[in-house]
Amino acid sequence: MALIYTDHNSCRKCYACVRACPVKTISIKKGLPEIVEEGCIGCGRCVLACSIGAKMVHDDSSVIQQWISEGQKLAAIVAPSYPAAYDVPPEKFVGALYELGFANIQEVAYGAEICAQEYTKFFNQQKPKTILSTPCPAVVQLVEKHMPSMIEYLAPIDSPMLIQAKLVRARYPDHKIVFIGPCLSKKYEASDTNNQGYVDAVITFRQLNQWFELKHVSLEDVREGQWDNPQPQLSRTFPISGGLLKSSGIVEDVASMEIVVVEGARRCIEVLKAIEREEFAPRFIDMLMCEGCVMGPGMVSDKSYVVRAHKVATTVRRHNNRLDAQALSKLVQEMDFHRKFTAQPVVKKQYNDEEVWQMLKETGKHTPRDLINCSACGYDTCWEKAVACLQGLAEKEMCLPFLLSQVPALTNSLMDMSNKLMLSMESINFSTLTLKGTTSRMNLKNQQLETLLEETNRIAKNTLQLSDTVLAMLARYEQPLNSSGTSLRLNSSGVSEIKEIASQSKQQAEKTTKAFEEITGILNCLREDSVSILEQEKAIKVVTHSLEQIVSTYEQLLNIGVAMANIGRNYV
Ligand code: SF4
Ligand code: SF4
Ligand code: SF4
Repeated sequence: MALIYTDHNSCRKCYACVRACPVKTISIKKGLPEIVEEGCIGCGRCVLACSIGAKMVHDDSSVIQQWISEGQKLAAIVAPSYPAAYDVPPEKFVGALYELGFANIQEVAYGAEICAQEYTKFFNQQKPKTILSTPCPAVVQLVEKHMPSMIEYLAPIDSPMLIQAKLVRARYPDHKIVFIGPCLSKKYEASDTNNQGYVDAVITFRQLNQWFELKHVSLEDVREGQWDNPQPQLSRTFPISGGLLKSSGIVEDVASMEIVVVEGARRCIEVLKAIEREEFAPRFIDMLMCEGCVMGPGMVSDKSYVVRAHKVATTVRRHNNRLDAQALSKLVQEMDFHRKFTAQPVVKKQYNDEEVWQMLKETGKHTPRDLINCSACGYDTCWEKAVACLQGLAEKEMCLPFLLSQVPALTNSLMDMSNKLMLSMESINFSTLTLKGTTSRMNLKNQQLETLLEETNRIAKNTLQLSDTVLAMLARYEQPLNSSGTSLRLNSSGVSEIKEIASQSKQQAEKTTKAFEEITGILNCLREDSVSILEQEKAIKVVTHSLEQIVSTYEQLLNIGVAMANIGRNYV
């Protein structure tokens, strides 16, 4: 199951998520974004950047609720940034978690304290070589997936979450362990093959709030509860900028930049690249993908950093823990908090300059001056965007200047088509008039044809009668009058009768010939009219086609308008 996915029905194709993604692992297909999981570091920048909430985060809450309904014992381990997300005293927050059905509730801040001690030891033992802190899983993912050559710099120390989970697992082996915090990338850390078997599920504070709502848990009204871990000390400041340094006693050295705090995705990448290129070689970097975990993507707060940090700081000395540190000291000493990392390099095909220029030309960029690097597509430079197109991650149409450059051509073609359409409409109007005449003429001809056919029918009957009369006469003259075989002789009255019949037959034959001539004439007219109707039909098809083209061009212009509006809305 993907950590983050996109609701394509809500997506507005603004590419704010692409712009925010520090490792550009969001591909666009037919305008819609899709996260390429192999490259994702779980930093959650895309989720924060999507103003309409189309980026959805995988939620373990329903699985956890299922475990509770099956009677499974659960331990919650809660990130130390929780005071920044909840406006109630810690005791109420803990009480609300009991209300949901957790059997054991622990602060990850206690694991952070042990973590800080491990860092102090490691820092003091380490030869002069850069140490990158590893409590932030997004930093670890960044190195493992995108800068694997830097793995040797990662401090091989378990994160506070892993340390806390190991302690809970050792003391409560029958419990499932749920991490609750502000971080999306903890999901990757929990399922990493190097860390498996400790954290069974991960949810964010945002998802926890939805669960509270679902179960109608009111944080103000619940009974107060106590943490099941010993009280931590300064490590409750871990989610604030420089929290690891404060807790471990390693002092930030701003003057020499030997020991520094680096926060934010782009700054982390910048510093790692500088170290990789041997341009910068500090002793220790406390590196976080967010500006302190209080600003993590799974937080629920509209407060500024300073307000959130202050809320965390006010809980540092608060005692609300039912366990004494002594109770765990032996266990802590026996446990191993050493951690391993595995390179998972993301391989992207590389392209030579000629290939990239070819792609750039397809979006109207022919010289270096055309590379305006406006970043509307979500990429920092036109070059990066062209490479992404070649890699199948981006599409040409994501380039706003390219879209804009198409507008005049589309408008011209629209005008051209409109003119053609007007001409076609005129011709249709004319042929409609003609068609009216044609139709009434055809009706008339049809009536004439019917009359002629009736006439022909009548003539045929008359001719038949005349034939019968002639045959009867012939029979009379051929019949023998007596036994000697003598027949009746044709007299003058018989001759007159035959003449009369012959004359009538001739008249009928003439009428028939005339009727057939008229029928032929009418059929010719009807054929000509049919041809004219077919032509009319063709003209209508031309107009329909022109209209379809116009609609399609309008749609293209509309899409460009929508893209411009969406990109413009989110363009920073
Ligand atoms: S940021 Fe924009 S492009 Fe990305 S998912 Fe949200 S609406 Fe879609
Ligand atoms: S979580 Fe971070 S790395 Fe993953 S897609 Fe979103 S912005 Fe990119
Ligand atoms: S800084 Fe904290 S919240 Fe942000 S990614 Fe790292 S561990 Fe997660």
